[in-house]
Amino acid sequence: MKQTEHTAIVLRYANYRDNDRMLTLFSPTKGRIEALARGCRKPRSPILNASELFALGDFELYERGNHLTVISANLMETFYPLRADFDRLAVGTYLLGVVENVIQPGIPAQETFMLLLHTLSRLTFSEQPWRPLLTGFLLHLSQSEGFVPRLHHCVHCQRRIADGESTWFDLTEGGLVCRDCRLPVHVPISAAQVNWLRTMLTTGSAGWVDSPEMMAPYRLMRQYIELRLDKPVRSAAMLPKE
Ligand SMILES: [Zn+2]
Repeated sequence: MKQTEHTAIVLRYANYRDNDRMLTLFSPTKGRIEALARGCRKPRSPILNASELFALGDFELYERGNHLTVISANLMETFYPLRADFDRLAVGTYLLGVVENVIQPGIPAQETFMLLLHTLSRLTFSEQPWRPLLTGFLLHLSQSEGFVPRLHHCVHCQRRIADGESTWFDLTEGGLVCRDCRLPVHVPISAAQVNWLRTMLTTGSAGWVDSPEMMAPYRLMRQYIELRLDKPVRSAAMLPKE
């Protein structure tokens, strides 16, 4: 039996019995954590607000055997204004679902944690269009999780691909394909979109959040990431239609 404290964000919950919830937390140092929030659905529960999606705070956990229980939580942010915009709420929920899918119990994921908080903050407290935000998030996630696509060489013949050259994208191999190697299964990608991806990786998040909306290869990055997840992200069905 021991008590530990973790800064974490609620990625998911499942209601349990009459008043309880099983929370899926994301800690930058401990990865994915499942913890029982007992009594959190009672109106006067001190952990009521900390047991909602997007709740970010310091969670004090009690560990017994393999089971963790939330004792208390010091809430830092709820991203509450997200609830006022259906589209942005759907995008935020999708971010949580993707992250839940890539992180592992016990494996630190500091970079992914910061990326998630940064993207949620922009989504909640800025007017920036959600498409480049989400596309940039997915691109940077592929980088922090170690499967960033190859954007400077053809994944088949290794030839260097110049700026402005016509290119295609191989979703399975993860990168650009030149004119000589392309097959019908490869997805066309415009030179502007290739440039967008390259620029976003070098400038970091300061660049991708302010870029023109339509240049972000949103559908492509979604396909690329979702192909690499163990299970489908259920909240993807709620995303705004194009
Ligand atoms: Zn090639």
